[in-house]
Amino acid sequence: MKTTTTVPDYFGCDVFDDRIMKATLSAKVYASLRRTIDEGAELDASVANAVAEAMKEWAVGKGATHFTHWFQPLTGITAEKHDSFISPSPDGGVIMEFSGKELIKGEPDASSFPSGGLRATFEARGYTAWDPTSYAFINGNTLCIPTAFCSYGGHALDKKTPLLRSMEALSKQALRILRLFGNTTAKRVISSVGPEQEYFLITKEMYEKRPDLRFTGRTLFGSKPPKGQELDDHYFGVIKPGVQAYMKDLNEELWKLGILAKTEHNEVAPAQHELAPIYSTTNIATDHNQLTMEIMQKVAAKHGLVCLLHEKPFAGVNGSGKHNNWSIATDSGQNLLSPGDTPYENAQFLLFLCAVIKAVDDYQDLLRLSVATAGNDHRLGANEAPPAVISMFLGDELNAVLEAIDTDTPYAGTEKTVMKLGVDVLPKFNRDTTDRNRTSPFAFTGNKFEFRMLGSSNSIACANIMLNSAVAESLKIYADHLEGAENFEDALHAMIKKTIKDHKRIIFNGNGYDDAWIKEATEVRGLSNYRTTADCMPHLLDKKNADMLISHGVFTMDELRSRVDIMLENYCKSVSIEANTMVEMAKTQIAPAVDKYASDLARDVAAKKAVDASLACRRDSRLIARLSELTDIIDERTETLSKTMIDLREADSIIPESEFIRDKVLPAMNELRIACDEAETLTARSYWPYPTYGDILFSVK
Ligand code: ADP
Ligand code: MG
Repeated sequence: MKTTTTVPDYFGCDVFDDRIMKATLSAKVYASLRRTIDEGAELDASVANAVAEAMKEWAVGKGATHFTHWFQPLTGITAEKHDSFISPSPDGGVIMEFSGKELIKGEPDASSFPSGGLRATFEARGYTAWDPTSYAFINGNTLCIPTAFCSYGGHALDKKTPLLRSMEALSKQALRILRLFGNTTAKRVISSVGPEQEYFLITKEMYEKRPDLRFTGRTLFGSKPPKGQELDDHYFGVIKPGVQAYMKDLNEELWKLGILAKTEHNEVAPAQHELAPIYSTTNIATDHNQLTMEIMQKVAAKHGLVCLLHEKPFAGVNGSGKHNNWSIATDSGQNLLSPGDTPYENAQFLLFLCAVIKAVDDYQDLLRLSVATAGNDHRLGANEAPPAVISMFLGDELNAVLEAIDTDTPYAGTEKTVMKLGVDVLPKFNRDTTDRNRTSPFAFTGNKFEFRMLGSSNSIACANIMLNSAVAESLKIYADHLEGAENFEDALHAMIKKTIKDHKRIIFNGNGYDDAWIKEATEVRGLSNYRTTADCMPHLLDKKNADMLISHGVFTMDELRSRVDIMLENYCKSVSIEANTMVEMAKTQIAPAVDKYASDLARDVAAKKAVDASLACRRDSRLIARLSELTDIIDERTETLSKTMIDLREADSIIPESEFIRDKVLPAMNELRIACDEAETLTARSYWPYPTYGDILFSVK
């Protein structure tokens, strides 16, 4: 008989978490492991063996037969190679074994993962190294051990290694600042993230009928449905039973994995939904978000559904993003982006706030390129928000405070005295988030920043690497200056004032979707506007960017170069697959369907005319004429796109290739789509080879 279990009963039951560690490890081993997790202390071999043994016992007890080093290669998805625990015993049977060595280090034969030249294929193997700060977990029958992935030369081949390095850099610089404010106890400063994940749910039946969805994750054709998101009735609307059942299952699976899935609701577009977890450290949040995306797809399959994580599965319908809610806190839990109660705390808060403002302005390009993919280009800088221009929203109150400091004028909230930092009490900032600006790419939301440019399928690692590093750089500059200052308070005041003066151009509280803003941003304020991946990616190597990232030990120059190559390669490959899919669909299905319909119509008209000339109406002949034209246009444009794809082969390196994709391939795809979408609106439904947007978007009941 099934007894009712409550969430706390099974939350984290598939995770080798602190509770399990405490219960299964000796006090000495546990203490030693904890030191490694909390302080990065080195782990000795005997401890590793004991941990491996306990982990294996626990996993086998839960039905696991295999283990894997789970890592995040530069392709953005996670990778794993499964090994079984079994080892032959002398009596002809097997025993289940797992050593400390196997826990700590793995050697996946991973020669086909992209390395951007960092690892010559003849020395194919990189190695994976256990990341003890992220708990091991069971997925299916496999014990998954979160790891970093490096080449034998020590270069990072994954996203986790630079993320961990950036967290380290940020912690180091932030601690210097905290010491200046008299904090002698903090051991670490931790950046945390709560990523809100958007996605579409459609039925498997519809998905299977669309080669574009199957091959590329998005529809490459499709005219607008009669009912889209105009009515705004989907947002926060009643969740359909099929979706509800999915979300229930999904939550249970995530909770078992210790993922704090918290809120879920419908999004703006039909069939679009969102899931948000409770925040955790950037490292764990990144692992969990990768896992969440995987589980979302798995659970969907069980429900006869498909979860689309593409940034723009449907043209003309809102795309999907990921809001990266980011903050920094001390190891004792003091949120450094939260205004405090005392003048001193407030001055400290303002300094950290300024560090973020300076970071976002100085490294707009890094933030932009950290979210750049072919898929996300359809959102950023296209006809949907947020724009590709980065700006920050602070809210009226905080703005007024900064302005008062900037201009040495009294702030209304402080009884008309000119505020002196560290002396006067700042007003309590209103933490009400109801009126906050939803169009801003980077918004302050009371005690954290929400970076809204990430695409739904992006790994959040990249954005957080850049954010952590850029803020570490601001803090370093501040600390260098303040540590040598004669009068700390004066220097602090001057520093904050200077930041506001130098960087206020990045602050914008208006409507970020407005064309007038893009004009002002680029022409008056000189903010950068990189519309595509091809535009922004090469800037990773700009001297100011490379110098900063290398100086904080986040990347080496070789690693940076490899990343530019890999990201551009990804861009070119994704678009090429789309172009080839379009050619095939147009050639083998769409053009023949339109042609057939036109011919059948013509035949019917001729038959009617044969009976009585007056029966053939003008509508029919106009339609036949337009359909025939469209058949020709579709043919021509398919041909043009095919030719363009052949010309693409002439590009001799990745930068010209990506520019060719941007300037020639994507426009040719667009032209072909326009003709096919018009044909779709004119062709009788029974002739059209694919489900329409209406069919797909309203497919889940
Ligand atoms: P909404 O954006 O819908 O108003 P919330 O502001 O409550 O929702 O939270 C959005 C996300 O921000 C959640 O994932 C939440 O856990 C996360 N979050 C809240 N506080 C912090 C913080 N200090 N650091 C990072 N993320 C946070
Ligand atoms: Mg939000």
